[in-house]
Amino acid sequence: MQALHVSLVFAAVLLAALATQFWLATRQMRHVAAHRGEVPAPFAATVPLAAHQRAADYTLAKGRFGLLTLALGGAVTLGWTLLGGLDLLNSTLVDHVLPAWGPMGYQLALLAAVVLVGMLIDLPFEAWATFRLEQRFGFNRTTAGLWWADQAKGLLLAALLGLPLAALVLWIMRASGGLWWLWAWLALVAFQLLLMVIYPTVIAPLFNKFQPLQDESLKARVQALMARCGFAAKGLFVMDGSRRSAHANAYFTGLGAAKRVVFFDTLLARLSPDEVEAVLAHELGHFRHRHVLKRLAGSFALTLAGLALLGWLAQQSGFYRGLGVEPNIAAPNDALALVLFTMALPPFTFFVTPLLAQLSRRHEFEADAYACAQADGRALAGALLKLHEDNASTLTPDPVYARFYYSHPPASERLAALPSAA
Ligand SMILES: [Zn+2]
Repeated sequence: MQALHVSLVFAAVLLAALATQFWLATRQMRHVAAHRGEVPAPFAATVPLAAHQRAADYTLAKGRFGLLTLALGGAVTLGWTLLGGLDLLNSTLVDHVLPAWGPMGYQLALLAAVVLVGMLIDLPFEAWATFRLEQRFGFNRTTAGLWWADQAKGLLLAALLGLPLAALVLWIMRASGGLWWLWAWLALVAFQLLLMVIYPTVIAPLFNKFQPLQDESLKARVQALMARCGFAAKGLFVMDGSRRSAHANAYFTGLGAAKRVVFFDTLLARLSPDEVEAVLAHELGHFRHRHVLKRLAGSFALTLAGLALLGWLAQQSGFYRGLGVEPNIAAPNDALALVLFTMALPPFTFFVTPLLAQLSRRHEFEADAYACAQADGRALAGALLKLHEDNASTLTPDPVYARFYYSHPPASERLAALPSAA
């Protein structure tokens, strides 16, 4: 592998990904702006013009912010790689940390430093998104104190979970020979499954309060639906989502018998009982069709492919030099290869986005069809419209943009597919 070839391919793919993202984002903004004046015909009777225009303004504001973060993200990737940022950081740590902390200490320091710098760069943008963008449209409910507490808890959690996992993977890379990527994959899969098991009871409660669902009539309704669909869950919970945001949601969490149903309080406040039932039936549809399992299996397969590729790349000096880093002579290169790989991969995987989005939209249609069979299709349509309006989601996305990115079908297609729409 020639370093120059690696540089050229990487620069070309990064540029192509950035250009495609800019092109799609500006298409979406132009399309939404052009249709701001009028509620599209199928929604004329149900969606007020003011709500439609608020959704357009929110989409445009998010679009402008997206362009800014896109440009910044491209600059950061270039800065780390071809412009020598990672090389500078790495040689500094090799000179000053390696002698004192040894090879494992140096490698963990490199990973931690890269993550920390990334978080510091993101911090002002996240704050702006929460306290300016979301605030302006009335979505933000978080306070500066809560926001900082969230950041601190997130960082602490990342260190507590991430550092031992990183140490384990680095040890495997060092100790298990040419097939290290297979063992590392097994470790990552085990870690992710463990995370899914402890998330509902250990991690989520660090950030939110979960109360058992009190509303007896809704509870009876939901339990009847679950019995009808043949589902067992460990409990029905209401989460105080309103502490941070007005956006509403409902989800399943956990694995196997530890599954829980979680409703955001914002969802219960807004939807009628039959609408809540229909939304839950949609979520049950994802389980019935094994979407969750399929997605998990898909992500495990992609991780394995990625690690196998890294297993080969990490042996090539052209991989390091081509991406702007001089490989170490007196220290292991495992952490360096991991970091470089995670930095260089996104522009390549970006081009798989439309395939994954397409698959996800198909799953949504299947879950909707299941919901219509198990609950009231008209209630589902009503809930979708309310959630769309409350989240200020645009009803007039650019078709190309939606095809490329949307994990959920645009409202018009989704409602048209519900049997009740006739
Ligand atoms: Zn869904």
